[in-house]
Amino acid sequence: MSERRFGAGAVLALDVGGTKIAGAVLDSRRQIIATGQVPTPASAGAPAVLDAMAGLVAQLRGKSSEEILGLGLGAAGVIDPANAQVASATDTIAGWAGTDLRTELLARTGLPVRAVNDVHAHGLGEARAGAGRAAKQVLLFAVGTGIGGAHLVNGQLLSGAHHVAGHMGHIDSPLAAGLPCSCGRTGHVEAIASGPAIHRHYLRLGGDEGVLDTRELTVRAGQGDELARRALHTGALAAGMALASLGNVLDPELIIVSGGMAGAGDLWWQALRAGYAASAIDPLAHTAIVPAQLGNDAAFYGAASLFWPANERK
Ligand SMILES: [Zn+2]
Repeated sequence: MSERRFGAGAVLALDVGGTKIAGAVLDSRRQIIATGQVPTPASAGAPAVLDAMAGLVAQLRGKSSEEILGLGLGAAGVIDPANAQVASATDTIAGWAGTDLRTELLARTGLPVRAVNDVHAHGLGEARAGAGRAAKQVLLFAVGTGIGGAHLVNGQLLSGAHHVAGHMGHIDSPLAAGLPCSCGRTGHVEAIASGPAIHRHYLRLGGDEGVLDTRELTVRAGQGDELARRALHTGALAAGMALASLGNVLDPELIIVSGGMAGAGDLWWQALRAGYAASAIDPLAHTAIVPAQLGNDAAFYGAASLFWPANERK
């Protein structure tokens, strides 16, 4: 491997969610050389979560023989990247809103801290080290428990005036009319197209109540369960139409689809593409739509990339 221009050190990256904190060490060649994981003590409150993060950092930093340049975070909640603060958050982690990640983690680890939202970290990772690393303008669309994403130009995240850009689940969908959304409104695409929403739709259609989750539903769909196929198809179609609406506004060079539903197989992908084709305007009919490449590691690359030079791609 050739000498890196910026090979001075390694970066620690944490992906902080409501149930677990995952961490990685990325060396100066931008390779993941070690990973670790601890449970998130979410109900114990922000100080306990910060302590757990610092504990994982202590575990991981010994794995690098290189100097550690800093600690990059992809964290749950609305994150203000300029200040590495939790601007707002649900109560998934008690007392998380308002947490000053930079100050608190500098005090606990001695490391400089940079942070973005966890979905934004995924987008940054795919744009700078994954499926989008050769593209100028990338739209990441993540469909899983919720629906979110990120818009990136030249590997840089456009996070918006209030740091909430990318809340793609809250686009109005004709297929979700009247259905309650996680945001408290009705009719948003997340209410018909997220993983749990597809399961709820299946049960509304009269599906087998013994099917406990979307994973099982997907298996049933593959076996020919007609109601499972319908619920999966409707969800993916709605997701594709919402994706086209975004495409019509932003005209991305490349659309990357990630999240749990992206692993649901051909039926889901075909319906997603059909929804996109139905709603995208003519010049955008052939915009490339590809699966994400990095899986959960995307968040590590994205968080670590906060310490890479602005124009660097892996
Ligand atoms: Zn909503």
